[in-house]
Amino acid sequence: MNPYVQYMYGYPHKTAYRPLEGVSLEQYVHFLNGNGHGLYVHLPFCQSKCGYCNLFSVTGQDEEAVDRYLQAFERQSRQYQHLLQSVRTQFQELTIGAGRRCI
Ligand code: SF4
Repeated sequence: MNPYVQYMYGYPHKTAYRPLEGVSLEQYVHFLNGNGHGLYVHLPFCQSKCGYCNLFSVTGQDEEAVDRYLQAFERQSRQYQHLLQSVRTQFQELTIGAGRRCI
């Protein structure tokens, strides 16, 4: 079997990202009802940029920038906590990275 036959690139190119306006998780939280969900945490800090990668990630950030990002992540997590509790979301998989193969 050719391992590349079923390869499908699932991420949009980094130039495709835009501010998300007019969309709220509340509209879609029912899709996260119960278990069987995965949680992806995007930490876009890389030591060096891999040549093939077009994910949003940056290099050379200082500790302060990373701390600010993590604090924002914590704030956002607390905002979502109540919403996810309302539909009893259970994450069964956690992926940390800027892409699945990073960590
Ligand atoms: S996000 Fe992953 S694949 Fe992309 S540059 Fe960073 S380590 Fe490499």
